[in-house]
Order: sequence, then C-alpha cells, then structure tokens
Amino acid sequence: MQQQDPTKISILGVPIHHVSMGDTLQLISRWMREPRTDAPLRQICTANPEFVMKAQQDQLFLDVLGRADLCLADGIGLVYASRWQGSAVPERVPGSELVYHLAKLCAENGWRLFLLGAAEGVAAEAAEKLQNLYPGLQISGTWSGSPALEENESIVSKIEAGNTDVLYVAFGAPNQDKWIDRNKGSLTSVGLALGIGGSLDFITGRSTRAPEWVQSLGLEWLHRLWKEPWRWRRMLVLPKFLYLALLQAVKQR
Ligand code: UDP
Repeated sequence: MQQQDPTKISILGVPIHHVSMGDTLQLISRWMREPRTDAPLRQICTANPEFVMKAQQDQLFLDVLGRADLCLADGIGLVYASRWQGSAVPERVPGSELVYHLAKLCAENGWRLFLLGAAEGVAAEAAEKLQNLYPGLQISGTWSGSPALEENESIVSKIEAGNTDVLYVAFGAPNQDKWIDRNKGSLTSVGLALGIGGSLDFITGRSTRAPEWVQSLGLEWLHRLWKEPWRWRRMLVLPKFLYLALLQAVKQR
C-alpha cells in the first residue's frame, strides 16, 4: 500500500507526480479509507502537454493544478520531459485507463460513482457499460451538462443527493479541473474527483483508442489527431512544449 505521498517534479510550473497506475490505485484506496472530517475531497488531474501549455496562459488553471492532490502524466510528452529532467516518472498513466481500474475498485469497495459531463446521453450509456463490466458497481447518478455557472447548483445537489463517493468530470481541460476545484467545498459526500477528458466517449465507443502497438510507440496523440482532425489547432502547441521542456531540463542540469 502506497503509504507516503508521492514525490513530484515541476514541468514548466505544473506538478507531475512520480506514480505508476498501480501506485495511483493504491493511493486512491488509502485516501478513500482515511477519515475525512473537514478535509475537502481529493482531486486528480490527468495532465498532458496541452494542459501545461494552457496553464502558461491561465493563472487560475496553473493554481488548480498546483492545488490538486495528484497530477498524472497522462500525455507521453510529460514522460519524455520528466526523463530529460533526470527524474523520470515510472510510466504514462492514461486517464482513459484509470477510469476502468477505478470503476472496478468502486465496485469492489461499494463506493458510489457519479459520471458528469460529455454530450447528451453519453454519461448514462457509459454508466451502463461500466456496470456490465463490473457487476455490483453502484452509480449514484449521471448528468450530461456543462460547466456553466447557471447549472452549478443543480449539478452539485444531484451529486450530493446520490451520496457520491467518486466523481468523474468530463468537461475537458481546463473546465473540468476548475469545476472540481471551485466546488470542492460543497461536495461534502465526495471523497475523490477527477477530470477525465474524453474518457466517457471512449467507454461508449464514440471515440476509439489507438491500437496497443501505436500506444507503445508513444504515438497515441497522433492516432487521436488522425481520428479527430479538428484537434490540429489545439495540438499546435506541442512543438513549443517540447522546446520549452527541453530548455528547462538543460537549464536545470
Ligand atoms: N464537454 C462537455 N461540456 C462542455 C465541453 C466539453 O461535456 O462544455 C465534454 C465533451 O463532450 C467530451 C469531454 O468534455 O466528452 C472533453 O473531451 P476532450 O476530447 O476535449 O478532452 P481530452 O480528452 O482531449 O482532454
């Protein structure tokens, strides 16, 4: 069992923790068992180079990432950047895989899971898929909404009414991470919340992940660009990320 909080490095000001998928699950199990009298929920961010570049222009997002209990190296670019700094993270920890492992843990431990976000109907369909995969999984609710402030109160009430233990938020970054941070204080039943990007779309089969050999070559991002070409504009920041991360590593050596 992961007893200590994991160490982290800073990649252009964004903390990235030294954890594997196994460590992450152990840490979550520990957190969920800890008594939480007035402590707010634990927050996990599934970071990638796009997060880091967004955070360079968005102080609130940078602060949210800094306050999160765990920032995972979801993007391969962060794994490379950690190696360049001489302090490599053990592996890439994709949020799109964590959502399955954690749903299994929820089923095994009786933790109630709420799915928030994605397009109309996606969260409910993803809930059904996860329940088929992990019999006994309790879904405390689903909501295909938006991060708009007008919806905030009703979403929080629904999550609380369901006595939710674990919350997946699929609004895309930075909205999902800011949403969790903003509502931490009101989500009193929730022990853990994580931003999961497009993972509900993967669970329902609306998006497909790259074949394993493509993932093992560190090219999942390229597969995503091929499948969802509208992403090209967002991905334009990647060469700049690599340059800045390399520069940071050279300066630190
Ligand atoms: N989304 C949403 N409400 C919004 C904007 C986005 O529910 O106002 C959802 C969108 O449907 C998708 C997810 O947020 O399921 C984010 O997906 P994206 O592919 O942008 O995230 P990534 O995986 O790249 O972090």
